[in-house]
Amino acid sequence: MPEAVDTCSLATPASVCRTKHLHLRCSVDFTRRTLSGTAALTVQSQEDNLRSLVSVPKELVALMSAIRDGEAPDPEDPSRKIYRFRQKTESMLKIAEDLGGQYVWGQYDLLVLPPSFPYGGMENPCLTFVTPTLLAGDKSLSNVIAHEISHSWTGNLVTNKTWDHFWLNEGHTVYLERHICGRLFGEKFRHFHALGGWGELQNSIKTFGETSPFTKLVVDLSDTDPDVAYSSVPYEKGFALLFYLEQLLGGPEVFLGFLKAYVKEFSYKSITTDDWKDFLYSHFKDKAKDDDLSSFNVTDLKDLSSHQRSEFLAQVLQRAPLPLGHIKRMQEVYNFNAINNSEIRFRWLRLCIQSKWEEAIPLALKMATEQGRMKFTRPLFKDLAAFDKSHDQAVRTFQEHRARMHPVTAMLVGKDLKVD
Ligand SMILES: [Zn+2]
Repeated sequence: MPEAVDTCSLATPASVCRTKHLHLRCSVDFTRRTLSGTAALTVQSQEDNLRSLVSVPKELVALMSAIRDGEAPDPEDPSRKIYRFRQKTESMLKIAEDLGGQYVWGQYDLLVLPPSFPYGGMENPCLTFVTPTLLAGDKSLSNVIAHEISHSWTGNLVTNKTWDHFWLNEGHTVYLERHICGRLFGEKFRHFHALGGWGELQNSIKTFGETSPFTKLVVDLSDTDPDVAYSSVPYEKGFALLFYLEQLLGGPEVFLGFLKAYVKEFSYKSITTDDWKDFLYSHFKDKAKDDDLSSFNVTDLKDLSSHQRSEFLAQVLQRAPLPLGHIKRMQEVYNFNAINNSEIRFRWLRLCIQSKWEEAIPLALKMATEQGRMKFTRPLFKDLAAFDKSHDQAVRTFQEHRARMHPVTAMLVGKDLKVD
């Protein structure tokens, strides 16, 4: 095979490398199921004239298709045949260019490695390695190809500076991958895969344990081998964050605009999560918090039953503390203070106190003492005691009221507040 020179680069444009590409010679005997051959990758740096030749042992070489999809004669040697790996690669590349911008690496090839290859794929510029387990025969596992193609932008063009920020590579890549599959197979397909990814994330969190530092989006690997921390977390928690931001900031088309701008901004750079975050905030600077709050409308809860209002507040309470501005806005628009339903009032007041709204302190103290149902009284006293502005008042109020409280409630609240 004559030496192919392409201008794609493994480095920045300022220090161009010439990838002289993969020299692959192999012969396949389908009857005996044997493969033999040699492969070599030549990369030449233009700047320091360093020329290195990397030889790949023949044991590491495999052929691309097990189902002979896309069989064609080799134009250079008619006695041989080329088997193509057809997984909609071309259309995926076109969609990916539409989403991420121009493909800068020149060639895009796929090489199926032997079964011992430990990953689904590895996104080397110009030549992606993939596992033979993708050869399902029905192209149903082609999302991995979409994933590796996406890495041409998020991973190879914009790269995480350290493995602590690995989610930048993988979260954005899964996000792009699902958009490519969405364009090919429909938006419902994208959501279906998002659902599967959420399950994967839950499994990883269960395996590590909820409080494990490896479940964080940005991890501290200063004393840890990145392979030990490897899991679906950077992939699926990263995707979940981006998917959430997409919904929050204007939908898929708006957020894809951000993604394209992000790739453009950080092309050929290695970045941290703070770089990403600063860019996100500056890109969406028009969507200030006040705008979000202005979307609150009295009609939001109009058709909700008391059960539904109570459940709504229970869900919001799970995310507490909320920014105080949000709580004040909720009171302004929905006027929860005027609702006397005890279940709703209880959740609302807990939300206020956990979000540190001083004006709600007397209301919460009133509810904690004007009735004695432990379901309401204990959590309210606990929240009041945990808020520095109401701690002393909570203890004082409890001491004033304890003689009138049911002895069991008085004993338990006393324990909660650490009051003898
Ligand atoms: Zn990946």
